[in-house]
Amino acid sequence: MKILVPVKRVIDYNVKPRVKADGTGVDLANVKMSMNPFDEIAVEEAIRLKEKGAATEIVAVSVGPAKAQETLRTALAMGADRAILIETDEEVEPLAVAKILKAIADEEQPGLVILGKQSISDDSNQTGQMLAALMGRPQGTFANTVEVDGDSVTVKREVDGGLQTVKLSLPAIVTTDLRLNEPRYASLPNIMKAKQKPLANKTAADYGVDLTPRLKTLKVEEPAVRQAGVKVADVAELVGKLKTLGIAD
Ligand code: AMP
Repeated sequence: MKILVPVKRVIDYNVKPRVKADGTGVDLANVKMSMNPFDEIAVEEAIRLKEKGAATEIVAVSVGPAKAQETLRTALAMGADRAILIETDEEVEPLAVAKILKAIADEEQPGLVILGKQSISDDSNQTGQMLAALMGRPQGTFANTVEVDGDSVTVKREVDGGLQTVKLSLPAIVTTDLRLNEPRYASLPNIMKAKQKPLANKTAADYGVDLTPRLKTLKVEEPAVRQAGVKVADVAELVGKLKTLGIAD
């Protein structure tokens, strides 16, 4: 079985994003970029399935600028077998990504597509669900555990206050949650080996997908600055203040 893993290049999760002065978006100039953390978990899960013998090939895919090659090389260094870059300098919306992934899935015929549950850049949480709809295949979102058994996959999903177990027939779409696994670091020899692995360069036009945005971002704002706190002398003073604020009675 082949596994397709879409990986997105996003601002590194350790970097505090800064909103551009004109409020049109996040400033990406000279900012460290990395693989979306949920996608690292997706790559790791695909590798574990291959190590268990449930998968034979892992194909990493990214839609983004030429520099997204670095993200794909990271996936290859972790253990993916080959990669496809769909190069564009435009900001691509989840629907366009899902359409491209659908076209790639038609070509590659993967048994599983494992995506992150959301990209930390736009927090959309849409691509996996849209892809499942476009492919007409079942989806197991927010996966905490993934087990492939013959022609089905059992996914434990993280839901409010617990776990829900679903069984999907393959081919299926899975999106990863934070607790699914702890991604491995790529070792230096594997980083070197990854340079030799195949990476195909494509464009959206190769898949007949129109990238024209359907949405317009009107405004992006920084979170409100937190007000300075005050120190209270004792519990009585704290309770008094909570009462004045109507939080305690
Ligand atoms: P989103 O719907 O944007 O929150 O993204 C959910 C998941 O879809 C991500 O974790 C990736 O696995 C995948 N994805 C979204 N955008 C891209 C992209 N430009 N290239 C590759 N994968 C993507």
